[in-house]
Amino acid sequence: MGKFTAFKLPLKSLTKGTHSFDYHLDKQFFANMENTDVRDADINVRLTVDYNGDVYALTFVVSGEVLLLCDRCLDDLHMPIDTRYEITVKYGDDYNDDSDTLLEIPDSDNFLNVAYMLYDTVVLAIPIKHVHPMGKCNRQMSAILKKHRAGASDPDADEFLEEIDAADPRRRDRPALGCPEGARKRSRGVGAEQAPHGKAEERLAIATSIADIKY
Ligand SMILES: [Zn+2]
Repeated sequence: MGKFTAFKLPLKSLTKGTHSFDYHLDKQFFANMENTDVRDADINVRLTVDYNGDVYALTFVVSGEVLLLCDRCLDDLHMPIDTRYEITVKYGDDYNDDSDTLLEIPDSDNFLNVAYMLYDTVVLAIPIKHVHPMGKCNRQMSAILKKHRAGASDPDADEFLEEIDAADPRRRDRPALGCPEGARKRSRGVGAEQAPHGKAEERLAIATSIADIKY
């Protein structure tokens, strides 16, 4: 089964009238779309197709939540998604998506895959700047990042990682996922590129890239 087989809408076989379809978008869906900003997702979609014998009126009602990283403090950010998307689909000679409201698909297509429509709908509903509301950021992370950015000319990566580990209470009692005890030490030796990355290392990479852009 292909990555997006579940999103194939059997348009050709629909009878006149109204039909409903349900979809669920999860972490894997965004991974399959090669989106690295969305770290997890729990989104329900109800699609209603109204076919009058000529055109198909599609209405997607999308609601749920995505998990992102906050741009300011790099801590988890749960972003509610509550949006809808409407488009009319019609059979024609060729594929034509020039219009924002009408999509023409060739008569030979029995199915319409709605995965990309859904993906675009969710991504457009995510604000460009993803940050916690004022005062809700992880203060310890913000302080460490601020300090790190201030001394960005000679960042001490290891020290920074340890500070993050100490600041994040979830990391105190258990080893990071995919990064068993000692793995980080070993990773400094041969084959470091293939070594599993802990969350803090990932955050450092992101922090450094943000620092490079903004400072
Ligand atoms: Zn934040």
